[in-house]
Amino acid sequence: MNAILRDSLKNNQAYYKEGELANYIPALAKADSKAVGISMIDIEGNSYSTGEYEKKFAIQSVSKPITLILAIMDNDIDFVFNKVGVEPTGDPFNSIIKLTGSAKPYNPMINAGAIAVTSMIKGKDNEEKFKRILNFFRKLAKNDKLKLDQEIYLSEKETGDRNRSLAYYMKDQGIIEGDVEEIVDLYFKQCSIEVTCKDIANMAAVLANQGVDPITEKRVISKKIARIVRTLMTTCGMYDKSGSFAIEVGLAAKSGVGGGIMAEVPKKFGIGVYGPALDDKGNSIVGMKILKELSQRLNLSIF
Ligand code: GLN
Repeated sequence: MNAILRDSLKNNQAYYKEGELANYIPALAKADSKAVGISMIDIEGNSYSTGEYEKKFAIQSVSKPITLILAIMDNDIDFVFNKVGVEPTGDPFNSIIKLTGSAKPYNPMINAGAIAVTSMIKGKDNEEKFKRILNFFRKLAKNDKLKLDQEIYLSEKETGDRNRSLAYYMKDQGIIEGDVEEIVDLYFKQCSIEVTCKDIANMAAVLANQGVDPITEKRVISKKIARIVRTLMTTCGMYDKSGSFAIEVGLAAKSGVGGGIMAEVPKKFGIGVYGPALDDKGNSIVGMKILKELSQRLNLSIF
């Protein structure tokens, strides 16, 4: 297994040249575009890793399915999906186009949907809400050290006007309630949590194991919530590339502009890959190529 991981890293690393670092959040553009890491954890708890699998990066949109789980647990399934849909958009992750009209975001994997989801997290103030999000991420990643990357958070806060506009419009239309600046601030913090490939592979392993932590064997997410979130990752997790990713790789996955992709193989593996050079849709190029190779060599596609 380790040899397969090493091979797929070596075979695909050079694709970083075809991508670009996210620069709309200036602090993300400081990443090393050649860096690659892979981590795979099976549901017996064995882990396999190669490359820069311990390098820290901002979780960005890989946070969206995890916060969605917490929001459903804090409220309930109907409450959440009354406000946010479950359909793919075919549009970029930060698009404003399909918000016009009712402002109900199409799905929780795009920014508008994720901001609405973050607004549903319970807590007496933002500090408590962020603590709850961070603790939930730590629990799924089995890493008590996860923390905020302050520089990325501030950079995102300074440049996040597109997200602010999505949020203000959703508030006007009654999709979200409360103080918009506080809601987007919480969303920026959630996106700026530092993780490694291993952390997101651990998170994915819980999903792959249908909500039961493979190591502690404790149920952390209900089977039903795990199924809903895995389905949304399959249909919407790679934004307007979700269709071709389903054909080429065939796994539930979620990408983030920090360069991470979290993928799960039902009842088998949680996978985390990292490579900060992105394609034009905001997905890690090297990450997608590696997942394609792993899927083919290990026959992992769910289709
Ligand atoms: N924080 C990023 C943003 O809101 C998340 C986008 C992403 O990772 N695709 O723009």
